Amino acid sequence: MIRASYYILIVLFISLISCRPEPPDIMTVKGTESIKKMGKTLPHEHILVDFIGADSTGYHRWNRAEVVKKVLPYLIEIRDMGFHTFMECTPAYLGRDPELLKILSDSTGINFVTNTGLYSAYDGKFIPKELKQKTAKELADIWIDEAQNGIEGTGIYPGFIKISVEGSSLNALNRKVVEAACITHRETGLPIMSHTGPAEPAFEQLEILKEYGISPKAFIWTHANGEKDWNKLLLAARQGAFIAFDQYTSNETQKFVDFIFFMKKHGQLPQVLVSHDAGWYSPGEPDGGKFISYTGIQDYLIPALEAEGFAQFDVHQLLIRNPGRAFAIYKRLEKE
Ligand SMILES: [Zn+2]
Repeated sequence: MIRASYYILIVLFISLISCRPEPPDIMTVKGTESIKKMGKTLPHEHILVDFIGADSTGYHRWNRAEVVKKVLPYLIEIRDMGFHTFMECTPAYLGRDPELLKILSDSTGINFVTNTGLYSAYDGKFIPKELKQKTAKELADIWIDEAQNGIEGTGIYPGFIKISVEGSSLNALNRKVVEAACITHRETGLPIMSHTGPAEPAFEQLEILKEYGISPKAFIWTHANGEKDWNKLLLAARQGAFIAFDQYTSNETQKFVDFIFFMKKHGQLPQVLVSHDAGWYSPGEPDGGKFISYTGIQDYLIPALEAEGFAQFDVHQLLIRNPGRAFAIYKRLEKE
């Protein structure tokens, strides 16, 4: 009898362990990685951006070996600071180059994450003519195909959807791109990072997510530092959206510190992302032009936060846990 109950207990224990859901993954240019292994993360940076426009850009515009030579010291610098994951936010037709990121990942050991999607700000300058004519569903089909079959035959998969909107209210092209992101999220679980800025278009996008039955948890409000009314940021955070203050420079330290403490005071630190939006090798400029390093957050922001009482576990929350939750791949659907 005792032996039988032992047996039942062991079976129960084993089934409990095996039922426990695995933590979700992110998708790096080298395949999936557990969010538990992401480590310190920079959620919005760039290696290369090519502003020449969708109809002229292409891989012929830069030499990968030259880009690697230029960028490598900046990456080694952050690797030595303990950063292990880097979201590369350059969209297709603006210089996205998954193969380049794979080379950089192999040479540094840093996880790079690339994206699918389209950048519809600047009146569609960064969207090829033939794609502008497509419906939201047709665009989503292209992005879903990249998520399921890899980007351009490289065997490299996107880890998030990068879109952009502009203006205080969404025009037809912006709206179509947001809808395409929603269709793609419903199919793939890739989070939606949207270059947005002020609150009005942010809430318009959250409305569209709602129309598609998607939770605000799938939405990263990029360049939220462009909105002056922090109560609006708080409102979106309370709905579950991630609020990205992602254009850090050392002369903005106090603003970032104040914002982070504001969110913490209201219990919303878990929704905050910080990054530099730095880098930017510029094809066409001698030696890629002026390159901006990715070190300011570690060098200035974290010490400034700590000087005002930010604890080690808060730093862990900000640089490790929050990006993990934001970029984990799973479908964030509202209950029907
Ligand atoms: Zn950016």
